[in-house]
Order: sequence, then C-alpha cells, then structure tokens
Amino acid sequence: MAEKTYKDVEKYAKQVANKREWILDPSRDETYEILVDGLKDYFNRIGYFNCPCRDSNEDRTMDRDIICPCDYAQADIEEYGRCYCALFYDPKYDFTTPLEMIPERRPDEEW
Ligand code: SF4
Repeated sequence: MAEKTYKDVEKYAKQVANKREWILDPSRDETYEILVDGLKDYFNRIGYFNCPCRDSNEDRTMDRDIICPCDYAQADIEEYGRCYCALFYDPKYDFTTPLEMIPERRPDEEW
C-alpha cells in the first residue's frame, strides 16, 4: 500500500468536510497540522485513519468506531460545534472562543 503524504491526508479531510457539510479549522494552525500528521502516521503504520487523538488497538474491527470520521463526530459537532479532536467544525462555529476539551463520547467498554 502506498504511503500517504500530508497533502493526501489533507485532501481526504477536505473531502470528508465537504461531504458532511462540516469545515476544517480555517486558521490551519499547529493543532490542525498535528492532527493531519497524526492521521497520516496512523494510516502509514496500521493502514487506516485511526482518530489522531485516541489510542489505537491496531485492529480495524476493534477501532471501527474511531476511524476518522469517527462515529461520534456528528453528535459532537451538533452539541459542541466541533469533533473531539477539533479537526472538523460546524460551519457556524465561533472561532473567537478559546478551545476547551469536550467530553469523550466513546463508551468506556470500547477500550
Ligand atoms: S474526533 Fe475528529 S479527528 Fe478524531 S476521528 Fe473523530 S472526526 Fe476524526
């Protein structure tokens, strides 16, 4: 399998955002770069886009709910305006508010 580059992953994230009617952080700051890099590193190591801010079991079946875009992103975006990692946002998100942690929606028993 061909290794993914940063640009490949960024393209994927943009496609996901367009399809889901979300947006990426327009500042494209360091956090954004870390998240895109994290997705790239996971893909190149384990073969799928494990959520960059969650540990992987390195088993696609066990991790199916946290393959990006994860099963929890839509609910988090509806409730908090962004996904758990802060890669995807609601288009109406107020980027002037400081970024704070949001609760982990993934059930404990998945770990
Ligand atoms: S929290 Fe965000 S970055 Fe992480 S898997 Fe879900 S949608 Fe992707």
